Amino acid sequence: MEKITLGISTCLLGENVRYDGGHKLDRLLTDTLGQYVEYLPVCPEVECGLGVPREPMHLEGDPNSPRLVTIYSKEDLTDRMARWAQKRVAELENENLSGFILKSDSPSSGMERVKVCNEEGTPVKKGVGIFAKIFVEHFPLIPVEDEGRLHDPELRENFIERIFTLKRWREVLGKKENRGNMVEFHTKHKLLILSHSPKHYQMMGRLVARVKDLPLKELYRQYQTLLMECLHLKTTPKKNANVLEHMMGYLKEQLSSDEKQEWLEVIGHYRKGKIPLIVPVTLINHYVRKHNQPYLKQQAYLYPHPLELQLRNHASKITHCIKTKKEE
Ligand code: SF4
Repeated sequence: MEKITLGISTCLLGENVRYDGGHKLDRLLTDTLGQYVEYLPVCPEVECGLGVPREPMHLEGDPNSPRLVTIYSKEDLTDRMARWAQKRVAELENENLSGFILKSDSPSSGMERVKVCNEEGTPVKKGVGIFAKIFVEHFPLIPVEDEGRLHDPELRENFIERIFTLKRWREVLGKKENRGNMVEFHTKHKLLILSHSPKHYQMMGRLVARVKDLPLKELYRQYQTLLMECLHLKTTPKKNANVLEHMMGYLKEQLSSDEKQEWLEVIGHYRKGKIPLIVPVTLINHYVRKHNQPYLKQQAYLYPHPLELQLRNHASKITHCIKTKKEE
C-alpha cells in the first residue's frame, strides 16, 4: 500500500528541536501509525531561523490575534514567524499532504487552547499557534489534529478515518476526471458518510444525482468539501447503530430469524456501550462474505482503515460515563 503523507511537528518524532534541546517523541505516532504513513516534519521555530537551544516564547495580547514574544528578552517574533509560515505553507502545496499532526500547547504549532498571556501576565487557554493558524487557513479541508487529542480513542479513529478516506479520494482525483469515477467512490462510501452525518448523506446524494448538470470541476470541488465536512463530524453509537440496522435490510432474505435476532441484540449491546464497534462489524462482515452481498461487500464502512490499528476495539465513552455516574 502506498503510504499516506502527513505533516508533523518535528519534535514529536524525537528530534531534539525544542527550545531546551529536548524532544517530545510520541511512540503512538512513530511506532503504530508510522507503519502506514510517511511523515514530513516541520519545526516552525527552527525552520524560521531560531536556534537550539533558544529562549522560550509564548503568546501575548488579544487571543484572536496574539503576538509571539520571547519570555525574558520580550523580542516580538510574530512577523518573522508569520512571513516564514506563509512561504512554508505555499511549499507544502506540492507535498500532497493528507493531514497534519501538530504539537499541542505550542505557541507556534498548537492548534487550539494554547495559553495567551494578557497584560497582567495571566494566561487564558484560548490561542492558536502562529504556524498552526496559517496552516489551517491555507488548507481548510486537510485533517489536522494534535498529539494530545490523538490519545483519545474516538478522536484518533475520526482523524485516521479522515486521512485514509482522503487518500482514497485523492486516488480518484489522480485518475482521469470523470463522473463515473466519482459516482463509484460515492457508492462505496455511502454508509461511511451516513455513519458521520445523515444530513450530509442526503446532500451528497442530491449532488451526485445532479452529476450531469454541473461542470466536472465544480462537481468535484463541491463533493470534496462536503466529504471533508462530513467526516469531521463525529460518529456516535446511535449513528453507527442506525447504519448497522440499515445494512441488515440488504440481507433480510438470506438471514434466518435467529440470525436477525442475534444481529439486533449485538447492535443493541453496542448502542448501550457494552461492546465495541468491532463486534457488530465483524458479525456483519461474516454475513456479507457468506452471502456475497455485492453492495455491502464494497462498502468502505466495513474497512475504513487497517484492522491492525484496532481503532474500533474500544467500547464507547457512554459505558465509562455510566460507570462513573454509578460509582459517584
Ligand atoms: S512544538 Fe513546534 S516549534 Fe516547538 S519544537 Fe515542536 S515542532 Fe518545533
